[in-house]
Parts: sequence; structure tokens; C-alpha cells
Amino acid sequence: MATVLIYSDKTNMALELLTAARQISGAVKAVTINDSQAAQELASAGAEVYNIEQPDINLADAAVAASVLAQAVEQLQADTVLLSSNRRCKEYAGRLAQIIDAGCLTDVTALQVNGDQIECQRNALGGATVATQTITAPRKVIAIRPKTFEAAAAGSGGSVNSLQVNVPPSAVKVLEVRGKEGDTVDIEAAEILVVVGQGMESKDDLPMAEELARKLGGEVACSKPVATDKKWLSEERVVGLSGKKCKPQLALLFGISGQVQFTVGIRDAKVIVSVNTDENASINQMSDYIMTADLKQVLADLNKAL
Ligand SMILES: Cc1cc2nc3c(=O)[nH]c(=O)nc-3n(C[C@H](O)[C@H](O)[C@H](O)COP(=O)(O)OP(=O)(O)OC[C@H]3O[C@@H](n4cnc5c(N)ncnc54)[C@H](O)[C@@H]3O)c2cc1C
Repeated sequence: MATVLIYSDKTNMALELLTAARQISGAVKAVTINDSQAAQELASAGAEVYNIEQPDINLADAAVAASVLAQAVEQLQADTVLLSSNRRCKEYAGRLAQIIDAGCLTDVTALQVNGDQIECQRNALGGATVATQTITAPRKVIAIRPKTFEAAAAGSGGSVNSLQVNVPPSAVKVLEVRGKEGDTVDIEAAEILVVVGQGMESKDDLPMAEELARKLGGEVACSKPVATDKKWLSEERVVGLSGKKCKPQLALLFGISGQVQFTVGIRDAKVIVSVNTDENASINQMSDYIMTADLKQVLADLNKAL
């Protein structure tokens, strides 16, 4: 049976990887690095956790992190490594694969086990299609996009063990760690999204969307041009291929045409409502509810009704 090792620098993502790993094999091990709280949380979900507690490991240096993970792979005799496909772990993935002589896939959006193959789905051709790819090398490093799997729930049988590695010297010196400045919204975590597109004519109409999001307990998000061209909202709020992949319970889309680069970021929403003056807008093909109407009017009506 293949041994699957999981690692993410974010605990919630590591719990998602645990769910994914259990689909591949019954032999799953988790690594945490200088994070005893994450180790405990994973163990509470039933994982066999190996915590590396060596404060001199510089995780800001991807070369160091990859070396540490490679040593964990060897010590724990893993064949397959699952990482989260966030900015940091995606960089670890390529470096780790190179060290342990594995095949590597990142930005995986679904996986299925077929015999001894792990079939991975990834967006291809700018999001216009989905490609199914497998790694044929005996060792595999697979980075899975956040929110692809549900986080593992509490479970029994977990344990926290310790693991020692040789810490390689780092070429990177961390002078200071600062919180992210500006917009710190996490639209991927939102259960309700009010998403505005270029159909919104004036920035003066934005407060109506913000009011609706507030009343519904959700967040405002947008299509890319609203952030990058018009600069009405921060790029943290962009949904889509070059933005965030969101999976809310409810997505209310106002003035969005439905280009594929946008829809890849919202198609996993449970319920999609589209408000567009064009009854033939392509977003309507994937919407559960369609309102052929002026977004300004609908926003005003909803805010009044709520
Ligand atoms: C490599 C690449 C990556 C990209 N990544 C992303 C990405 O991550 N996210 C993203 O969003 N885009 C991305 N894009 C851009 C994408 O292709 C589209 O251009 C963009 O999604 C269109 O945004 P939109 O739907 O807001 O605007 P439009 O396509 O201009 O659509 C506006 C819609 O509003 C409707 N409308 C007009 N007036 C009203 C009204 N009063 N009331 C209601 N509806 C109205 C119109 O009928 C129209 O359907 C990317 C493009 C490329 C090439």
C-alpha cells in the first residue's frame, strides 16, 4: 500500500489534504514543522503526525523547506506527497520533487484513484478545459488547490510523534515579518459572496453591493477588470483563474458576463444567482437562478427587502 505524506503550512489546508490522502491510501502520515498546535489538530482528526520541532528551520526559504520535507519523505518511506497548492507550498512542491526524483503536478482541482494510478484534474488552456493527468513515476508530489476537499472531521487513533532532520543552512535571512497590509478579506472562506462585474456602471453603486453583503453576512468580491482596470476593489477580491477559487453556499453575481477565466473560480458554489440585462449572457448557463434585470434596481430592491 502506498504511503502518503501530507504537509501544508496552513492547518485548515492540511486537514483538507488528510481527506484527500485517505482516498488514496490507508497509510497516511502528516508532517508539521515547528507547529505543535497544527500537529495536535491533525492528530485530533485521526492523523499519524510527525512534528519537526527545530526552530532554526527557515520556512521562508523554499530550498530549506523542500530539503526538510525530502528528509521526512525518506525517513517515513512515503511514495506520494500531498501539499496544498497555495503560493508557498507550490514552490516547495517543485523543489521537493526534484530532490526525491518524483513527478510533480500542481494546481490539482480533483483526484481519483484508478488502480495504482492517481488521476489528477487541472485546468488547461487558460481554464477553457480540464485535463486529466497522471504521474507515471513511482514517486509523486501532488499540490492540491485549497478547498478541493472537505477538511477532515474529528477522528480517533491519531498520534503526535517527533522527527529530527538535518537543518540545511539558509541563503535567506528574515529581517522582519509583517502582517499583510491593505485588504485582508478572505473571499475563499466566505459562505455568501456578492460579486460585482463590469456591468456595474459607476463606483458610486458599489456601496449598494457592500450593504447587501453586510446584510447577508457575506463578502463583496469582483471580476478581474473591476479590480485591475477600474481599481474599485483590491485584487484580494478577484474571483477566477488569476484570482481566488471560491466555494460559497450562495454566489450572487451582478453584471458578470461569464467568461471562463471567471467561472473557474465560482463554478463550485452551491447556488449561483445571476443578475444581467442580457438574457443570453453565458453566465446564465451555469446559474441556478437567472434575473434578466438591471443590477442597480435589483440591489436597491434587495437592500430594501432585507
Ligand atoms: C489569462 C487571463 C486570466 C484572467 N483571469 C481572470 C480572473 O481570474 N477573473 C476574472 O473575472 N476575469 C479574468 N480574466 C478576464 C476575463 O476574460 C473577462 O474579461 C472578465 O471576467 C470579464 O469581466 P465581467 O464579466 O465583469 O465583464 P464583462 O465581460 O464586460 O461583462 C459585463 C456584463 O454585465 C452585463 N451588464 C451590463 N450592464 C448591466 C446592468 N446595468 N445590469 C446587469 N448587468 C449588466 C453585460 O450584459 C455583461 O454580460 C482573465 C483573462 C485572461 C486573458
